[in-house]
Amino acid sequence: MAFDSLSDRLQGALKKVTGKGKLNEKDIENMMREVRLSLLEADVNYKVVKQFTNEVKEKALGEKVLKSLSPGQQVVKIVHEELKQLMGEDAHGVAFKGHGTTVIMLVGLQGAGKTTHAGKLANYMRKKHNKKPLMVAADIYRPAAIDQLETVGKQLNVPVFSMGTDVSPVEIAKKALQQATENKNDLVIIDTAGRLHIDEALMDELQQVKEIAKPDEILLTVDAMTGQDAVTVADSFHKQLNVTGAILTKLDGDTRGGAALSIRKVTGVPIKFMGLGEQLDKIEVFHPERMASRILGMGDVLTLIEKAQDAIDEEEAMDMAKKFKEATFDYNDFKKQIKQIKRLGNLKGIMKMIPGMGKQLNNVDIDDKQFNYIEAIINSMTKEERRNPNLMSSSRRRRIAEGAGRNISEVNRIIKQFEEMRKMMKKMMNMDERQMSRMMNNQGG
Ligand code: GDP
Repeated sequence: MAFDSLSDRLQGALKKVTGKGKLNEKDIENMMREVRLSLLEADVNYKVVKQFTNEVKEKALGEKVLKSLSPGQQVVKIVHEELKQLMGEDAHGVAFKGHGTTVIMLVGLQGAGKTTHAGKLANYMRKKHNKKPLMVAADIYRPAAIDQLETVGKQLNVPVFSMGTDVSPVEIAKKALQQATENKNDLVIIDTAGRLHIDEALMDELQQVKEIAKPDEILLTVDAMTGQDAVTVADSFHKQLNVTGAILTKLDGDTRGGAALSIRKVTGVPIKFMGLGEQLDKIEVFHPERMASRILGMGDVLTLIEKAQDAIDEEEAMDMAKKFKEATFDYNDFKKQIKQIKRLGNLKGIMKMIPGMGKQLNNVDIDDKQFNYIEAIINSMTKEERRNPNLMSSSRRRRIAEGAGRNISEVNRIIKQFEEMRKMMKKMMNMDERQMSRMMNNQGG
């Protein structure tokens, strides 16, 4: 995951001051040296690093901080605030038109993730903003690019407008907008051509498409893995096209994070979205504050809640609660629950969003495949067994293990865990508030 090593080093640097009851200038100087090195190592632009460290230092050395009761905490707060500022303060959504069709033009170098993110955005806007998107294939130089967008469209069931490779991108954009009006598509996403490097011909063409399409947003996709190059690319595109925002892609990889921390400050372009995987649902709005919290290991509860809301159907959850209470929760329900958890995404990534968990998880190996094994085991049960968990005799267990390709002890363990969960849930669901809190306290201690 992006930022891991930066996160480690920054937290290490801050730890040196958080444990101390009193701080002096020397402590702050030492800490700042570490902070500076960790940012440089993360490939953050050196001018940005300089400005950042100067600001933090100036604030941290203020009388009020050094004389406060918890100077270390105050310093962490300052670093958090400055990191947030660096990445842009507030999250920016897309500026939708009140009436008529909103047009988003995607630009960027080849391979940055334009086509993939055209699909992700269409999917996201349809789900979150109830939009009816049309995607437009305006990269006429690579037939494969048109095919790729059409495949994405089919996958998502979102229409794609294309006219092949013999018509100019300007003409394609014009016709696409007409079709959007006719078909009442209130969102048009134009996937433009990319090149390996920025060149004049490309910029001219994009300029022309911009004039015709009059986009409400020009979003630049930049590959976070390319570090400072991403910042240079963003700068050139912005100077020529006046882009309205960036989508930082491939933040799921082990990029050091430099691009995310420099783009805004160097180019003035706000990061609006981030891409976190190849699949078409791996996109999130970029929230500078939440990102700052994640980097400093403070967790990100808000994103966690949003993810849970997306993955969990409320009616289904109520239904489950009822089953727990009445002890009618069976293996079919267990399977449904596992599906919901899997929908949240990579489990380690999710757990890191819980405050205080980040660092503890560094050396823990969480194997998402475990869920697949449990599913395979449940799948090998007969319908009757799934509905009636009390049927599990040892011969049945052996058959289930064979069917799932797992060993018998694993099947026994899953069955035992399931039984315990059922007992515990039944108990909890029938408790009043006082009993519940007593139980929680006992567990905690
Ligand atoms: P385009 O040339 O700009 O249209 O780029 P594509 O959309 O074809 O993406 C290039 C490659 O990057 C493809 O293999 C994508 O699957 C991959 N990709 C795009 N976005 C992401 C992302 O957020 N994370 C990861 N890991 N891969 C991505």
